[in-house]
Amino acid sequence: MLDKVVIANRGEIALRILRACKELGIKTVAVHSTADKNLKHVLLADETICIGKPSAMDSYLNIPAIITAAEVTDAVAIHPGYGFLAENADFAEQVEKSGFAFIGPKAESIRLMGDKVSAIKAMKAAGVPCVPGSDGPLTDDAAANLAHGKRIGYPVIIKASGGGGGRGMRVVRSEEDLVEAIQMTKSEARSTFNNDMVYMEKFLENPRHVEVQIMADGQGCAIHLGERDCSMQRRHQKVVEEAPAPGITPEMRAKIGERCCNACIKINYRGAGTFEFLYENGEFYFIEMNTRIQVEHTITEMVTGVDLVKEQLRIAAGQPLSYTQEDIKISGHAIECRINAEDPRSFIPSPGKITRFHPPGGLGVRWDSHIYADYSVPPHYDSMIGKLITWGDNRDVAIARMRNALSELVIDGIRTNIALHQDILSDQGFINGGANIHYLEKKLSELE
Ligand code: ADP
Repeated sequence: MLDKVVIANRGEIALRILRACKELGIKTVAVHSTADKNLKHVLLADETICIGKPSAMDSYLNIPAIITAAEVTDAVAIHPGYGFLAENADFAEQVEKSGFAFIGPKAESIRLMGDKVSAIKAMKAAGVPCVPGSDGPLTDDAAANLAHGKRIGYPVIIKASGGGGGRGMRVVRSEEDLVEAIQMTKSEARSTFNNDMVYMEKFLENPRHVEVQIMADGQGCAIHLGERDCSMQRRHQKVVEEAPAPGITPEMRAKIGERCCNACIKINYRGAGTFEFLYENGEFYFIEMNTRIQVEHTITEMVTGVDLVKEQLRIAAGQPLSYTQEDIKISGHAIECRINAEDPRSFIPSPGKITRFHPPGGLGVRWDSHIYADYSVPPHYDSMIGKLITWGDNRDVAIARMRNALSELVIDGIRTNIALHQDILSDQGFINGGANIHYLEKKLSELE
């Protein structure tokens, strides 16, 4: 097993990684910014190193500082968590070149999947179903682009190959608007992502977001751990997730899961990964792969019993997967609510001191969070301060437990989106299951 791991992240995921390390007897090094010396995992780690000023550029994105921290503490591996450097291929490469294990895939896999045009090409070749599209970058040849539009059928969406975070996309509903929309998306992509490559896809009107969790050992074995439905989104940000996805049968799960596993083996993928799909009229359409642990990995853990972070650590130590595909059984239903320090209506971030705090509890309730009473939420980072997860034998029980848990959760001193979650959990459209990715935004605009 690994001897000592640097946790190159903050907040709840840093604590999640610390807990997994401790269970496996791995020593931990917490690197943190000057704003984060009171983070829970920093207080619990074996060693701590301050790596810079609050701004992420100076700390959690500071590659030399993080690698130096690993050197001076004699660590053997670095866990990037999610966000920050987790999908930075140059970071993964430098970590390995410096003699440490990167707890994630090889740099070349991150690079392949980080560019959406190359990712789609590789996945299509591996037999993963993709959205009908241009099958490559768009050129400046207007006639060729119009021909793509005609073949695919309107509406289409123009997307930046290097895009992320829901930015760099433009929907085109008619032929007249196509050429100008491509130019605009290109110039935006150039200024935002420093890469003006764009491609075209069929725009699906009312899809759901369904994603498949995989785990691969980088030595020819891969398993899938079922799917999650993350359709409850605001501005392309997930708000509530659930596993399994309503209406997905065991046969559908096995079929799409197997395709994902085969693709992982084909590209020699290593570690945890997620295949994101749009799901419409019974069909899956690949949109992108996330080459890291995800925020919502928890609900997969609850329905499979597999500790995904411990599995990541084992794979990084060169061990084979602890499970075969036959070992993976989906049991019951799990829901996750992302608790943010923000106004529940305006969504304006609300950092500050937590004056009173009571976590919820009881059977089937999990609270993954770094906050405590007297902790001050700094203004410099993402506003997510915790994840409330419930599990039940079935979806109705998981919903009932989530309602209870939300009513027990007390976070005073700052504003949070707990009230928003209470609205969602009592909304008939959510209760019915299977709402599409536009549902929450529509509901929110009706409330306004
Ligand atoms: P990002 O990396 O920025 O998150 P994605 O490719 O994952 O970009 O797309 C983000 C979101 O944009 C999707 O979850 C979906 O809501 C919307 N979207 C992307 N492609 C399509 C499409 N072909 N049809 C309809 N909606 C799409």
